[in-house]
Amino acid sequence: MNRFEYIKAPSIAEAIDMMDSTVPEAMVTKTGGSAKVVKAGGTDLLDLIKEGILEPGRLIDLKNIPGLDKLSYDKKNGLQFGPMVTIADLENSPEVKKHYRALYEAATHAATPQIRNMATMGGNLMQRPRCWYFRSSGHHCRKKGGTTCFAQIGQNQFHSIFLTNVCPCVHPSSLATALVAYDGKVELTGPEGKRVIALSEFFTPSEVNVTCENVATNQEIITNIMLPPVNEGTRAFYIKQGQRESYDWSMGDVAVVLQMDGKKCQDARIVFGAAAPIPLRREAAEEVLKGKAITEKVVVQAAKKALEGATPLAHNGYKVHLFQTLLKRTVMEAIG
Ligand SMILES: Cc1cc2nc3c(=O)[nH]c(=O)nc-3n(C[C@H](O)[C@H](O)[C@H](O)COP(=O)(O)OP(=O)(O)OC[C@H]3O[C@@H](n4cnc5c(N)ncnc54)[C@H](O)[C@@H]3O)c2cc1C
Repeated sequence: MNRFEYIKAPSIAEAIDMMDSTVPEAMVTKTGGSAKVVKAGGTDLLDLIKEGILEPGRLIDLKNIPGLDKLSYDKKNGLQFGPMVTIADLENSPEVKKHYRALYEAATHAATPQIRNMATMGGNLMQRPRCWYFRSSGHHCRKKGGTTCFAQIGQNQFHSIFLTNVCPCVHPSSLATALVAYDGKVELTGPEGKRVIALSEFFTPSEVNVTCENVATNQEIITNIMLPPVNEGTRAFYIKQGQRESYDWSMGDVAVVLQMDGKKCQDARIVFGAAAPIPLRREAAEEVLKGKAITEKVVVQAAKKALEGATPLAHNGYKVHLFQTLLKRTVMEAIG
């Protein structure tokens, strides 16, 4: 572990001032060392530093900045929460449980109770992939600026089945699966001010940028996460399949948010997690559900459609069947 400066930032403006604009965090590997990065719960960041993947010159702790841990809900504006809200805070919020069932399920099934207490939502969206080649200091893979993707030719049972061309690591955030299904947005604050981006646009496929998983620049901080209001007809659910019940990331997870008019589905958003380097909308499957009464037959058709175009790797063909089953179960749970 390298030596670094540790500063508790008193405000967002001062945190941004302390960050380096010249070295993108994602590019800082063993040869880096000058980047200045923010720390929230530290559950991912400290691993990266200990593993020698990241060598920051300075850590800027966000913990003392007032207001970043607030969560609020109202019928008109929906749900809003700051980046220091933890996964446990979402799990323990009566509003989240009542109005945002898919998010609640995602929160209760992530990681472990201990990690959920520490893990913030800003950090959750910004956490780096768990691909073992990326995490191994002995492999200079594409994500670290190298020329080889070791997962494409090596062990890839937990990797992507979509968008596998450049780097098939999956995005590790299972909370993002639910947030994208709710059409959530994220507010980024940087030296130029604030900008708001749909979470469906926030994550970047590796074809677009292999060394970074999102559009946030090195000097931008997530300052808010917003979900639109839900209504009487909203039905949602989320299911995660892990290798273990706890202490593990997802092998595959599915979030579904439906707008129902009685038995008829008016609108649908279906998102797959751990299927691609980004939380992946399955629009063609959504179209199968729209305008129809949801029966088992329709759901089977949607599940088939959702897996069209999958390009599984040598060791993860099982994920095609896994996602088909998860999608069927998630839709049926959503409509109750
Ligand atoms: C055993 C285990 C199992 C896990 N299982 C799951 C799981 O099932 N699902 C899941 O989703 N996650 C899982 N996780 C990951 C965990 O949820 C994340 O590590 C955690 O959410 C990161 O939050 P943090 O506050 O600790 O972030 P940190 O480790 O402090 O930071 C992580 C990254 O985010 C950046 N960052 C933090 N806050 C901000 C901000 N406001 N703006 C910009 N950048 C920021 C940091 O610079 C760093 O790059 C698991 C972790 C472990 C150890």
